[in-house]
Amino acid sequence: MKVVVLGSGVVGLTSAWYLSQAGCDVTVVDRQARAAEETSFANAGQISYGYSSPWAAPGIPKKAIKWLFEEHAPLKVKPSLSPELMSWASKMLLNCQLDKYRINKARMLTIANHSKVCLAELNKQLQLDYQGRTQGTLQIFRNPAQLKAVEKDIQLLEESGTRYQLLDTEQCLKQEPGLMAMQGDLVGGLYLPDDETGDCYLFCQQLQEKAQAAGVQFLYNTEVTRLVVEKQTIVAAQTTAGQIEADAFVVALGSYSKTLLGDLGIDVPIYPVKGYSLTLPIINEQFSPQSTIMDETYKVALTRFDQRIRVAGTAELAGFDPALPEKRLATLNHVVSNLFPDGTDLAQAEYWSGFRPMTPDGTPIIGATPIHNLYTNTGHGTLGWTMACGSAEILSQIVTQQSHQYEALSCHRY
Ligand SMILES: Cc1cc2nc3c(=O)[nH]c(=O)nc-3n(C[C@H](O)[C@H](O)[C@H](O)COP(=O)(O)OP(=O)(O)OC[C@H]3O[C@@H](n4cnc5c(N)ncnc54)[C@H](O)[C@@H]3O)c2cc1C
Repeated sequence: MKVVVLGSGVVGLTSAWYLSQAGCDVTVVDRQARAAEETSFANAGQISYGYSSPWAAPGIPKKAIKWLFEEHAPLKVKPSLSPELMSWASKMLLNCQLDKYRINKARMLTIANHSKVCLAELNKQLQLDYQGRTQGTLQIFRNPAQLKAVEKDIQLLEESGTRYQLLDTEQCLKQEPGLMAMQGDLVGGLYLPDDETGDCYLFCQQLQEKAQAAGVQFLYNTEVTRLVVEKQTIVAAQTTAGQIEADAFVVALGSYSKTLLGDLGIDVPIYPVKGYSLTLPIINEQFSPQSTIMDETYKVALTRFDQRIRVAGTAELAGFDPALPEKRLATLNHVVSNLFPDGTDLAQAEYWSGFRPMTPDGTPIIGATPIHNLYTNTGHGTLGWTMACGSAEILSQIVTQQSHQYEALSCHRY
């Protein structure tokens, strides 16, 4: 079966890999000059199975109002009456109810835990080196209310078999000694020992090489302009390099999936939720993180790569605007200076922004569409790196009709 995968971010690349391993003849098309140049480029580097949670959670509507007036708030909204934003935000608010949150989180944990197994197998098979570590995530709390709020997640972690430990301040410092500068503010943490970390961009470059060696074709610098439909079947992808025909087509265009699918009358509820990151060299090992630290107050993650730290966060609802305003970068600077004032040199920071392809309920949209040979693997929001391998493996099973076991996981109904 000939399959065209549209997009070579971490989701498109992993899709291409698993489809090729399942015996498909795969071509990947991307407008950039190489893999992972857009949202998969400089994310927080968390492969956080245990932290897989929807942002639409109980208490978020109230917190969101408070955040609108805070300097270093995790959420920023550019005032706009865009119908896309209004529609997406109202669906997200509906998903903040506890019963919906539980269902969405359980679905995300299932895909994430499947990804854990798939990534482990992939690493065994390909021995990829993406500066990965397997030392877990430490979510840190600065007030007792945050410790209390985590109780609602613990039952779900237990139900999904995810290992966790609640730590007091001393135990947090034992886990991450570099946090000593902020110990006066630290009331405790949730440690997820099975979480991993790694540079998503390095992973993608290496997987792209392996996929190419395995026979996958890559067409870079090639923009997809539309999908050509005849009798409810996609016959070709129209691109700037001409038409590409195939038996099946997979849309893995991240935040841009919505436009291409919308042209076919398929409405996927994806909004580009902008985030920012900075990457810094380590100058003092003793005052640096060992793995990922998630600061719950600012919802900023700090991840250790070999001799670098990646710091990322902020959810900004402002459409596709790649600007790097000082005010947003100041939040990341503030968190890194507060946690690791002596570990890094902010003067050497490299800043970046990307658009998380977010669904209102946090779950990705994997599988069939109303057009019988058109599939999606998109909408991974805050957790595309974490969920990529599992999502791609599930997608390859659906496209090659090996199994429908996971189809119900994506709650999107057309
Ligand atoms: C600040 C930030 C921090 C994050 N931290 C984490 C984290 O720690 N852990 C985690 O799991 N996830 C994290 N994420 C989320 C993760 O990065 C995304 O979910 C993931 O990168 C999405 O991958 P994708 O392949 O779907 O999209 P992309 O990486 O955006 O790939 C889409 C591809 O489609 C191509 N494309 C788009 N339109 C066209 C077109 N018309 N024609 C041809 N090509 C096209 C693009 O060039 C791009 O290569 C973070 C995101 C951000 C912004």
